Amino acid sequence: MFQNLSERLEGALKVIKGKHKITEINVAEAVKDVRKALVEADVNYKIAKEITERIKEKALGQKILIAVEPYQLMIKIVEDELAQLMGGQKADLMLTGSPAVVLMAGLQGSGKTTFSAKLANQIKRQGRQVLLVACDVYRPAAIEQLKTLALQIGVDVYSEPENNNPVAIAQNAIQYAKANHKNVVIVDTAGRLAVDEEMMNEIEKIKKAINPCEILFVVDSMTGQDAVNTAKAFNERLDFTGVVLTKLDGDTRGGAALSIRAVVEKPIKFIGTSEKIDGIDVFHPDRMARRILN
Ligand code: GDP
Repeated sequence: MFQNLSERLEGALKVIKGKHKITEINVAEAVKDVRKALVEADVNYKIAKEITERIKEKALGQKILIAVEPYQLMIKIVEDELAQLMGGQKADLMLTGSPAVVLMAGLQGSGKTTFSAKLANQIKRQGRQVLLVACDVYRPAAIEQLKTLALQIGVDVYSEPENNNPVAIAQNAIQYAKANHKNVVIVDTAGRLAVDEEMMNEIEKIKKAINPCEILFVVDSMTGQDAVNTAKAFNERLDFTGVVLTKLDGDTRGGAALSIRAVVEKPIKFIGTSEKIDGIDVFHPDRMARRILN
């Protein structure tokens, strides 16, 4: 995970590594290379510039030039700033309402269906009754995929193969959940290959009809700057409550993880770390920052 970024950051800080006496020029050079590393990891230039200016200010403010171990101090400052950029503290899933309704949104292939099942499994393990809802009326294979995953984890799926109105399916699913004592309903929706008006209208209508306590935007971390742009488009229409970054097990450059929070001002709540059902983790900005720098 983020191996490339880790290596580049390590390279950027080489100029002060092992030194006991450094100059302002060394600091400026290191900071410039940190900025380059971030931009190369697909972090938007403005964000990379802002964060590196803060790093420089902090380093000089904390008297890095006369610190006993300037390198260690710099690592700590960069780590803290990266954690801050990713939201600082972890953000919990807020399951309220009876049933609590979680709406999943995102492009096709982002990992929505897989994540819906992963989350259902995790919530089930906490002893709650979960219902998965298949609202993709365009791809029958998507319903089958959800059913297959649900079978693995022993969770019920609500679907209406004959109904082509996803809003009605979602509403009926909530009624079904109430009648069958389900505590949490996870609604998997249809995705398209790119953001389009029809998809946005549809998911907006579903949101209005079922009033979810959480709207999770699922995005493939491998898609870099596109991930951030897609997040922006979805957030403008849906005002989602959290982000799920999938495929962090792949060779991702890290830009999405680092920039999304700053661009859409919504927390990353979960990450997807494999195709398997247990490949789900709560996102901890501080742990992630530490991982990037170690
Ligand atoms: P959807 O179209 O958004 O519902 O996406 P899917 O859930 O069908 O996922 C698309 C592909 O990505 C599938 O092959 C999944 O197995 C894979 N996938 C989903 N999440 C992850 C993840 O965290 N890591 C990896 N490596 N693959 C994932």
